[in-house]
Amino acid sequence: MNAELLTLVRELKARVAEGDLIASTAAAPAPRAQASVGAPAAASAEAPAAGGTLDALKEQVSACRKCPLGTQRLNAVFGVGSPSADVMFVGEGPGYQEDRQGEPFVGKAGQLLDDILKAIGLSRQTVYIANVVKCHPMTDPTNPEARGNDRPPTPEEIDECRPYLEEQIRLIKPRFVVTLGNVATRALLREEIGITRARGIWRELVVPGLERPVRLLPTFHPAALLRDPSLKRDVWTDMKNLRQELAS
Ligand code: SF4
Repeated sequence: MNAELLTLVRELKARVAEGDLIASTAAAPAPRAQASVGAPAAASAEAPAAGGTLDALKEQVSACRKCPLGTQRLNAVFGVGSPSADVMFVGEGPGYQEDRQGEPFVGKAGQLLDDILKAIGLSRQTVYIANVVKCHPMTDPTNPEARGNDRPPTPEEIDECRPYLEEQIRLIKPRFVVTLGNVATRALLREEIGITRARGIWRELVVPGLERPVRLLPTFHPAALLRDPSLKRDVWTDMKNLRQELAS
């Protein structure tokens, strides 16, 4: 664990020890506006075949070649966690480490996410963690062994992969979805909104086939916290907000 990570963990643990898990009105309260996604999400062009279980869907993703990422990846990265989780965390896509291990959020950003979850009484086993795209987007797909070869998924790749994420949400039926960073927030809300403006504001996510919208909370991606530690305060505010809603 690096020094930055240790500092955050200490801060989070200290705040837990202080009982600072209840949203405070005195210290930087999170905005609480409720807003629906403007238009219901359009039905996906190609929905996953009816399997009815996460295991069946995972098999389908493992064999998927719908977009070019499917022929470039080392492993498809489906998701991890509880199939009946109350909260789903959604990132943008697998990176170098995730591609090798076949699990989301396993590098430094993943360690930080684990520590953030722990600070609000959650864990990788009690939530569900997935990405918008299931295969590693690379700047140079001919060299998957290279480090620093990550890039955000394109809109076309996101659209091809979206049915899998929507099906995961339909199967898990979480009470809350937390989007981590710009890409996941824009992909799920289908809005060109920046994470700095979107974070901390509850939205409603319409998923075709679900009876009710799912409440969605955008926050910063853990990798952004590693680059800019000043964002930790906002993420902590958002996590307290989530904790309070989970307890209600
Ligand atoms: S990124 Fe998604 S759509 Fe593209 S090949 Fe992988 S699983 Fe299929």
